[in-house]
Amino acid sequence: MRRTNRSGGSVSRVAGGLALMLGLLHWSIVTADEPQDVRAALDRAVEVSYQDHWRNAQALLDDLAPLIDQAELREYADFHLLEARHLALADRSREGLDRAMSLLELDLPTGQRLRALQFAANISVLLRRYEAAFEFLGEGLQLDPQTDDTGPRIATFNMAAYMFGRVGEHQAGIEFGELALALAQESGDLNQACVARQRLAPVYKWAGESVQAEQVYRRGIADCQAVGNTLFVGVLQHGLADLLRPQRPGEALVLADEAIAALVDSVYPLGEFEARMVRAEVLHDLGLLGQEEEPELAELAAYFGERELWDQQARLEWLQARQAEQRAEFETALVHLRAYLQARESFLGRDRAMRLAYLQVEFESRSQQQEIELLRETARVAQLEAEAAAQQRRVRTFALLSLGLTLALALVLLFRVVRSRLRFRDLSRQDRLSGLVNHSWFFEQGQRVLQTADRDDSSGVVVMVLADIDHFKQVNDIHGHRVGDEVIGRTARRLREVFPEPALVGRIGGEEFAILVRMSDLDQVLARIEQFRQADPDGVRAGDPDVTLSFGLACFRAGDDLETLRDRADQALYQAKRDGRDCYRLDASCGAPARAALQ
Ligand code: GH3
Ligand code: MG
Ligand code: MG
Repeated sequence: MRRTNRSGGSVSRVAGGLALMLGLLHWSIVTADEPQDVRAALDRAVEVSYQDHWRNAQALLDDLAPLIDQAELREYADFHLLEARHLALADRSREGLDRAMSLLELDLPTGQRLRALQFAANISVLLRRYEAAFEFLGEGLQLDPQTDDTGPRIATFNMAAYMFGRVGEHQAGIEFGELALALAQESGDLNQACVARQRLAPVYKWAGESVQAEQVYRRGIADCQAVGNTLFVGVLQHGLADLLRPQRPGEALVLADEAIAALVDSVYPLGEFEARMVRAEVLHDLGLLGQEEEPELAELAAYFGERELWDQQARLEWLQARQAEQRAEFETALVHLRAYLQARESFLGRDRAMRLAYLQVEFESRSQQQEIELLRETARVAQLEAEAAAQQRRVRTFALLSLGLTLALALVLLFRVVRSRLRFRDLSRQDRLSGLVNHSWFFEQGQRVLQTADRDDSSGVVVMVLADIDHFKQVNDIHGHRVGDEVIGRTARRLREVFPEPALVGRIGGEEFAILVRMSDLDQVLARIEQFRQADPDGVRAGDPDVTLSFGLACFRAGDDLETLRDRADQALYQAKRDGRDCYRLDASCGAPARAALQ
């Protein structure tokens, strides 16, 4: 229903004399065509609808109809809501529901939206559209916190009380009903309290809490009478009659009669027929339902049958079956019993449908909740995963760093170990005082040199030279050991200079040196020895003892091992010592004996 394209509200043209009168009374206000006048007229219509008669109120609406399309949204919605209520009361529930649903398409203020939802839920129940009813109710309950407008809140809770009660969710029903009643009492509006009790009382009855139910019924009747809400007085009296019927049929009969009168007065046929049904049952219980009531029962059957009110129909068929039984009309009793079973099946089916609709809506809202929770959970898991991944990255980085650090440390350690091992190896090969290789390393290396020389038949000679400082004992004795050491060091350096790499030069004893050198011929070796024997140009410092050396030479012959070579060189050295020192002698392996005499 678009506000620019709507037909306007004059639906019920039924108006009694009083309505006409009230309509005329308000005509002057309505034609004034001012917003506050429309508001005032609507407020009046609402008051009449609830506290006088809905038909009179509809007459007021009919008068307002030409103006309502131009009215504010609020007034427009109130108008149609009230007219929808009247449509439902006039047994035109479908039209009433359509009207409410059209209103729900508009952008209504929360209070009015709640009223429309509550109303739509109410009529949907009457039309057995339970799923829709629970959806309307659910939306209303969700909207509730958004409004401070007490009226619509109470109406929503009333509806919730009734519907939860109907589907067997008694505790929830009672809670909503008590909440509505508390709000109504707080508002000080007695009519609201009347309506709330009218909704709450049957919920206590369905819950089996008879004492509580009776109390609410009685106080409800008093409230509704006080505000002149005859319709609800009738509905409450009918409900209480039904409650008291099994134990206190006398009281129930009085209440049923009063209820019928009130409902007839209010022109609410459905309520009236239900009250008449209770009255018939009470009469039966009292044994007062005679043949003369037959037309009454037939009228009830027609009304309930037309409207497919299965629960009422079942009660009626059951009653008729028992009546027939009492009259010993067993065949008739059987017909009614069958009809009872059929109707019962239908209304149980309806109750099941309602329960199912409730469960469906409940399930949907729960599964929605679960879906939301699932989404939240998924988000939480994703966050945890992200954190875990970040943590993992941190751990990995840390591990890599540690590994790198460990490797670096290990490398440093390894390097140090290798270096110190090399140092130790060097130390183990070196003579500290002279800086030359020591005895064992000299002979180890010397052995290798000889092995190569043995395989290598290229020209040249391999000569072992042994050199020993002359009268060194005296150097020590005269100058002391420290000077002696210096002399050893200087002698070593000079030998190294004269016999550079690859000649092997070592200190093989206290003041004894060995040289293994390969040269193209022996003369070259002798020339080096001569070079050594020349005065050291800058090695001799003032005060240093000037020492001489004796040399013994032996030349390598194929098949020689180092010991043999050394022995022969030793012999030559011995000879040099014997020959007066400061000279060299050659072993025979070095060729011409003449050379041995060379100085
Ligand atoms: P010759 O001419 O016969 O070789 O006489 P020499 O005194 O040199 O021979 P000897 O073998 O009798 O004495 C060698 C001396 O060298 C004995 C020892 O005190 C000294 N000596 C050995 N090693 C060292 C050393 O490392 N430092 C010092 N200062 N003296 C050493
Ligand atoms: Mg010696
Ligand atoms: Mg000596």
